[in-house]
Amino acid sequence: MTRIFSGVKPTGHLTLGNYLGAVRQWAEVDQHRADALFCVVDLHALTVDHDPGRVRRLSQQASTLLLASGLDPELCTVFVQSHVDEHARLSYLLECVATDGEMRRMIQYKEKSVRERERGGSVRLSLLTYPVLMAADILAYGADEVPVGEDQTQHVELTRDLAVRFNHRYGHTFVVPRATPPAVAARVMDLQDPTSKMGKSHDNGAGIVYLLDEPDVARKKILRAVTDSGNDVEYDPEAKPGVSNLLEILAACEGGNPQALSGVYESYGALKKAAAEAVVELLKPLQKRHKELVGDSAYVEGVLRRGAERAREMAKPTVDTAYRAIGL
Ligand code: ADP
Repeated sequence: MTRIFSGVKPTGHLTLGNYLGAVRQWAEVDQHRADALFCVVDLHALTVDHDPGRVRRLSQQASTLLLASGLDPELCTVFVQSHVDEHARLSYLLECVATDGEMRRMIQYKEKSVRERERGGSVRLSLLTYPVLMAADILAYGADEVPVGEDQTQHVELTRDLAVRFNHRYGHTFVVPRATPPAVAARVMDLQDPTSKMGKSHDNGAGIVYLLDEPDVARKKILRAVTDSGNDVEYDPEAKPGVSNLLEILAACEGGNPQALSGVYESYGALKKAAAEAVVELLKPLQKRHKELVGDSAYVEGVLRRGAERAREMAKPTVDTAYRAIGL
């Protein structure tokens, strides 16, 4: 059976980008067709300036939101990364296979290290080695597929390179995985700056719809989205990034494709209204379920405990094999 692994970072509140680019596909498709593991990757949240209490709260919130989004612990494994030691154990071995040059070439490292320096902070070594830990997350489970948004495909390519290199040097140990981004909304853009992606840790809250935004808040953010010059509501990400982003969001909500919506709306205003209502409707059931789960934290804890046990059982044999293969 196909094995799938993917995760979210508890560095901020989950966004519409996380949902449309990843989580929805996990819930609607992936958990039904494969042996799937979904993880709140809290170790990754320590790579930038962080507050310990906030990371813990956001981990809890992200776990609850994954369940509220429809991940079913009867169908898939939901767990928190730091509950399973195998991730860190394997990450060290992969650091001995990766090079500093390939780490420095990663686009996310370049962007995030600049941001950290601009904020006056120093760059943590773990920000540089982040993709190695991500490779460990994936390879520990022998995942065939990694459903992620477009921003993560470079890291999955690196994971493939490390798996192939390790296998070549030390004997076949790892499955070589591939990224499987969604066909629509693989890269949801910031509503105020449609040339950069909607990212949960960006400072600009006005351009980001959070999954737990009240309907009125989400609606306002979309109605105030930056659009482009001209009046035609056409899908053209190069020339019309703002309008195309709204078409992409609307199409994703409706399960269609954004090209087919070109020319359907008479004005930017009409498109914004339609997109705002579609997003509000999309979030309603998820928010309702989230509220219920917040009132039942014992259930969520139980799911995460059983998830971690199952994940550990799956990862340990592969990681033990890797330790032997590399000479330990
Ligand atoms: P973030 O950038 O919000 O911190 P994560 O690293 O936690 O995102 O990613 C969780 C999943 O959500 C990944 O599969 C990632 O590719 C996807 N994702 C994040 N932002 C977006 C976006 N703006 N559009 C589409 N997918 C996204």
